[in-house]
Amino acid sequence: MDSTTVDQLLAAHSVDPTLLDPGPADPDRAQTRARYAGLHLRPCSACGKEEDCRTARVIVFPEAGPRWVDLCRDDSLAVMGPWRGPTTWEGILADVREVTAEMGLPLRVYTDKEGWSDDPGP
Ligand SMILES: [Zn+2]
Repeated sequence: MDSTTVDQLLAAHSVDPTLLDPGPADPDRAQTRARYAGLHLRPCSACGKEEDCRTARVIVFPEAGPRWVDLCRDDSLAVMGPWRGPTTWEGILADVREVTAEMGLPLRVYTDKEGWSDDPGP
């Protein structure tokens, strides 16, 4: 799937930013979470689909200032950048090992063939 920007997505749907809800100029995570996890069902800012929006962000439009952009699942996925994390089990486990070591936590790896064991590391 090709990635697009939020600006490109809104332009493709001819969204008038002045009709979007005004938002804070620099929302923190709690404000953003409250927006998409709120009780109010909001239509997707891009396609207008009436479903639970999966993401919310504030875009500062030159002509309209900061506005909330709520996106449905499909449009959220359309604006996600390419995956930059590990793509192999070995790479994923290496990342998990690094994080758990930094946190001082033990790591156990469970598999469907071997049960579980303390992770011996690489
Ligand atoms: Zn949508």
